Amino acid sequence: MSLAKIFSVSTRVRATNVLCRAYSAPAQDKAEKVYPMKDPGYMYVNAEPQDMSFKALSDKAAQTMFWTELARGFAVTFAHIFKEPATINYPFEKGPLSPRFRGEHALRRYPSGEERCIACKLCEAICPAQAITIEAEERADGSRRTTRYDIDMTKCIYCGFCQEACPVDAIVEGPNFEFSTETHEELLYNKEKLLLNGDKWESEIASNIRADHLYR
Ligand code: SF4
Ligand code: SF4
Repeated sequence: MSLAKIFSVSTRVRATNVLCRAYSAPAQDKAEKVYPMKDPGYMYVNAEPQDMSFKALSDKAAQTMFWTELARGFAVTFAHIFKEPATINYPFEKGPLSPRFRGEHALRRYPSGEERCIACKLCEAICPAQAITIEAEERADGSRRTTRYDIDMTKCIYCGFCQEACPVDAIVEGPNFEFSTETHEELLYNKEKLLLNGDKWESEIASNIRADHLYR
């Protein structure tokens, strides 16, 4: 480092110290560099003043001359060769998913094959995006079932309110996140599509609900 550069850096450091002293109490260590001291909501974020002692300068010069940064960089690279990679080979490998993951919607059935949904319309009422449309009628046996259950997946914000509101765990957000389409129309789900999703993902959905039941 040239003498002129050292002089310019030390001048800047002195100026910074003067400014710091003007706004804060004398700093003993880093923890005291809260600015201003009376308001702990502010932190000192400026560049740290450089250590201009002979030891620090000679250390820096030695590191520059002997390229120790290069050797340390190679060491870090070499060490990472033996570590497990953070990346995965998607879509052949997939990362773990939380049981609470809110993915594609599905309508579930009971093991008998009967639809769970009792057309109470709580999900439709709570949906903040107004993405759900339900029509219902009474069956011959007196039970109430939906004749239409549509979800506009392009309106859905995946908040999970419909799933939380459902008293019979009929509408759920399953673990599937791979349902991108080329057209808008393909994301207008009807009852058949939702029931199909339920049949397809039932084992995963049931195990996720079991894993999370203590917290619901
Ligand atoms: S996840 Fe939220 S936005 Fe989507 S359908 Fe359910 S309630 Fe509506
Ligand atoms: S899915 Fe659940 S909340 Fe929605 S109408 Fe059916 S039973 Fe009610």
